[in-house]
Amino acid sequence: MLTHLECTRCGEHYPADRPNSICTKDGGVLYARYDLASIKKNFSSARLALRAPTMWRYDAVLPAADPVTLGEGFTPMLASREFPNVYIKDEGLNPTGSFKARGLAAAVTMARHFGLKKLVIPSAGNAAGALAAYAAAAALEAHIFMPTDVPMANRIECDYYGAHVTLVDGLISDCARKVAEMKKEAFWDKEGWFDVSTTKEPYRVEGKKTMGYEVAEQLGWRLPQAIIYPTGGGVGLLGMWKAFEEMEALGWIGSERPKMICAQSAGCAPVVKAWSERKQAVEMWPNAETLASGLRVPKPYGDYLILDILKKSHGAAVSATDEEIVEATRYWAKAEGIFAAPEGAACRVAYQKLRANGFLGAADTVVLFNTGSGLKYLDVLDPAVMRAPSPQKAVEATKPATRHIGGIIGPY
Ligand SMILES: [Zn+2]
Repeated sequence: MLTHLECTRCGEHYPADRPNSICTKDGGVLYARYDLASIKKNFSSARLALRAPTMWRYDAVLPAADPVTLGEGFTPMLASREFPNVYIKDEGLNPTGSFKARGLAAAVTMARHFGLKKLVIPSAGNAAGALAAYAAAAALEAHIFMPTDVPMANRIECDYYGAHVTLVDGLISDCARKVAEMKKEAFWDKEGWFDVSTTKEPYRVEGKKTMGYEVAEQLGWRLPQAIIYPTGGGVGLLGMWKAFEEMEALGWIGSERPKMICAQSAGCAPVVKAWSERKQAVEMWPNAETLASGLRVPKPYGDYLILDILKKSHGAAVSATDEEIVEATRYWAKAEGIFAAPEGAACRVAYQKLRANGFLGAADTVVLFNTGSGLKYLDVLDPAVMRAPSPQKAVEATKPATRHIGGIIGPY
């Protein structure tokens, strides 16, 4: 039922029967478009009940290809023990311990479908681990360019999954530059290489949109008043908003929409800044620095789409300091039994701030996204590092938290 790809900037159509990257005219992000009228006639949401609890239960609204799956998706929607009417969508239970599994499962599925052989990603975090795992499952090559100082879990998992890891002395932007140089080489097309960077190919958004379908299904086909989402590259935000539009066209939900709220780190908050200044594009955030590596994205490629969603949904963008994030991570672990990724814990900080300033009320149903497991951040969250006893140790201890952890997904 996939009919074509459509540029989100100029509306140009592209055929969906071959690999595509971005719009060749204006660099816009391409979205997959479906014959939703036909899907509506032939498939109802009631039929989902009998389906397997993975993201592929929504295959009616995904490209028709043999899935490369490790059981990703349909993660728990946990009622908060702390706040009534708040739910925590725990993406840490995905394969590879993060929400990146959804997008890369879909991207690798389509790459195999198109006969691509060598998938390349400049990444410093969970996207790299997810690509490595799904490429292994698909018997494709994963080529990962990571800074030398990435979190230990990401480096080790990529190695064990058999990915070709190139450690680059620099930031992820330097890694992205290496990928850009490779693309100019003659072997790129000849040997079936493909770049799966954030929003540079259309199917990671398709995988991530299943979070939107799950929110609706798990809340009984009623959307919450607000969704708080830790926003780095923003693919999940884009995907969920796309899912809501598709679900309305399918007759599964009405025209109601949640307020979409971006949570960012104070050390890298380009969306918060652009939103507060009512800009339509994000300015590059200089010297981005935060222990929440997934939020270290100084200029998301899909910035114009993120800001448009905040506007259309009457949403908000809130930042949290690293201290607030670590405190929230610890609090969630104790109060909820959820050892969250720092990015996810930023949502609790954002929720509290928005309750305090009256943007959200106690009666509002709110879904907070924990995008990954804290287990992938042990070297960052180690209390011996976070709470050093002596001043000398404290100076040393700040190093792991403030080093260039990576996670920048820039407009490269
Ligand atoms: Zn375009």
